[in-house]
Amino acid sequence: MLNLVLFGPPGAGKGTQSAMLVEKYKLIHLSTGDLLRGEIAAGTELGLEAKKLMDQGILVPDAVVIGMIGSKLKQNPNAGGFIFDGFPRTVAQAEALDLLLASSNTSISGMLALVVEEEELVARLLNRGKDSGRSDDQDENIIRNRIQEYNAKTAPLADFYTNQGKYKAIKGVGKIEEITSALNEAIAAL
Ligand code: ADP
Repeated sequence: MLNLVLFGPPGAGKGTQSAMLVEKYKLIHLSTGDLLRGEIAAGTELGLEAKKLMDQGILVPDAVVIGMIGSKLKQNPNAGGFIFDGFPRTVAQAEALDLLLASSNTSISGMLALVVEEEELVARLLNRGKDSGRSDDQDENIIRNRIQEYNAKTAPLADFYTNQGKYKAIKGVGKIEEITSALNEAIAAL
């Protein structure tokens, strides 16, 4: 089973690259951001609570996203593999994911980290905000909060996966196809 964590700050291109990888390796794409926006669109209680945090660029509680991922894994018992996009975002989430996968006798194959510097991220997100319809892409302060949350809580996961020998950094700037090729090479070497 190929289970990939696609890692990187907001605006690094995780969504774009996930789409390519899903197609090529026939993986199930699990994006906690997309799942949360689905809850918001459906008007659920969980969605309403999450929206308050997301609109400030703050992470939603670990238990919420771990629960969502756990039920998606259960719903897909015969999957050939998963690509996790925007999850895990904290060490607690990464530990929970390891346990969830272990209980299905599988594990993370590798973590692919897209590296992009901060000013490029802000520019990309403001540009995406023009047509994404996402309220958290519209305001530079919210964008900077998201990057700050990433640096404080998510960036330490690079060490978590390095310690497991699973971390691979990939330059996230350049042509989309070049980045896809670099990801494919990293996957071939897993
Ligand atoms: P981006 O990576 O561009 O910020 P996402 O769609 O991954 O976009 O996330 C949007 C927001 O959803 C985050 O700012 C956060 O509030 C919430 N979120 C998404 N995934 C998680 C997660 N794994 N843990 C906590 N909060 C999350």
